[in-house]
Parts: sequence; structure tokens; C-alpha cells
Amino acid sequence: MRIFKTKTELSSYLSSNSKLSTAFVPTMGALHKGHLELVEKAKSESDIVICSIFVNPTQFDKKEDFNNYPDTLSDDLMRLEEINCDVVYTPAVSDLYGKNEKVKHYDFNGLDRVLEGKFRKGHFDGVVTIIEKFFAIIKPQKAFFGQKDLQQLLIVKALTKKLKLPIQIICIPTVREKSGLAMSSRNKLLNRRELEKATILYKSLLYCRKNSKNLSIQELKENISVCFEEEESLKLEYLAFTNYSNLKSISHLKEEGETAVCIAAFVAGVRLIDNIIF
Ligand code: AMP
Repeated sequence: MRIFKTKTELSSYLSSNSKLSTAFVPTMGALHKGHLELVEKAKSESDIVICSIFVNPTQFDKKEDFNNYPDTLSDDLMRLEEINCDVVYTPAVSDLYGKNEKVKHYDFNGLDRVLEGKFRKGHFDGVVTIIEKFFAIIKPQKAFFGQKDLQQLLIVKALTKKLKLPIQIICIPTVREKSGLAMSSRNKLLNRRELEKATILYKSLLYCRKNSKNLSIQELKENISVCFEEEESLKLEYLAFTNYSNLKSISHLKEEGETAVCIAAFVAGVRLIDNIIF
């Protein structure tokens, strides 16, 4: 496995392998099975897989969240090596950002202003800025993203369309713990008891799906809110019923496969997200 710390080294490696097809998997490290699934899928579809490990400072609206983000680099490299990832790119901030560089802003027709974009101001400006940089350096044919970050996936698709980049964006279903909890690097910040409490996110989504025919969206939301209020360590930030393709809020359920229910909540101060499409 080749490990590159600078874009110059990575670019020169890629140009000497330009005949091979490339797939890209961006991550912020603290890797879990969800990330590895993305790499495995990418491997099955390309000659070379490039996985980046970079905690992108511009997508954090809170400095303390950025500072607390788990860092397990040596473990991550071991896990990537075990599954035969070809290339890892682990740049320093200075390799990707100039001093005082401003983030980019694109108009995504409101897609970046709802849900995560509403509650984490500027988050998607940071995401598109870094993804555009990665795409320009790596120029992959394919890039793999998880359904867990559904809004990010849709925004990256919109970005490639806007910039007319010849990159296929591929979505991988959310990988879950046995408990149903969506795997997330942030789960590493929770103890056993808290991890158990965190299963409420997925349970809430399943409850919405199961009762979507006999209860209204308003009733579903109210019932879920009550469950969250019963527990002091939990705080529901949003539970949103949306149109899967643009994440616009809906008041009635759509045709099968067109509704996305998205949830964000704090568990013992750690912010988690999840979603379900039905
Ligand atoms: P992150 O390191 O959290 O920025 O995530 C890197 C990529 O892994 C993103 O495309 C995520 O959507 C994806 N990802 C994170 N968690 C999961 C999961 N549980 N299942 C599948 N993909 C995931």
C-alpha cells in the first residue's frame, strides 16, 4: 500500500499509472466497517483505489467538534492495508488549503440549506470545497460515498453535475452495528451505555417506516419527540420527512422508495445522524 502525504507525490504516482482506472473513497479517518465496505466496493470496480484520510477543518462549524474528532491513523492504515487498499492520501491542512483561503459556495437550489446545512452553518461549503480539490488532484472515474450521509451524497452528485466532471458517484448502503446503530467514527466517543442509548436513532426511523400508513407525519414526529424527551442524555435536533431526490420537506408520504426520513440527535453531547428511505 502506498501512502502519500502530499498532492505532488500523489499526482506523480497517478500520472505514472494513468492507464489504470481509479476509484476514490474520501474519509476523515477513525475507520470502521462502513468505510472499509466503501473501499472494498471500490476495489471490485477499479484497478486502483485511493482512500483519503483527512479531517477537513472547513466543514466543522464548531472548533471543539473538530478538535474532538477521533484520530486513529496508525490503526486506520493497518485496516486499509489488510483489505489491500492501493493508495492512502493523508495530507496536512497546508497541502490542501492556502493561508486564509476562503471556502467555495455553490448554489444547489436549497439542497445545501436544509437539514445538516441548516443546523451546521457552512458545513456543505466546506464539504464541496474539499471534494472539488480532491477530485481535481485525483481525477477518479468513480467515487464512493455512504448513504449514511445522504445529503452529502446528493450534494456531491449535484457538484459533479454542475462542474461537468466525468466522475461516477456511487452510493453504498449504511453499514450498521448488530444493534442497528449506524456505524460512525463519532461512535468511538461514546461508552457502552451511551452506545445503547444511541440505538434510538435507528429505532425511531424504523418506527416511522412501520407506522407510516396508520399515523400522520405530525403524529410520528410527536411520538418520537416524546421518547427523546424521556431521556436526559438525548436531544433530538431534527426528524425530517423529505422527498428523497431533493430532501425537500413533505407533508404526505410519497410513492414507494421516494421518501427519506432523516434524523440528527445528540447522545451524551455527541451528534449523530442517520436516515432511511422507503
Ligand atoms: P466520514 O469519514 O464520516 O467523512 O465518512 C467517509 C465516507 O464513509 C462517507 O461517504 C460516509 O457516508 C461513509 N460512511 C460513514 N459511515 C458509514 C456507514 N455506517 N455505512 C456506510 N458508509 C458510511
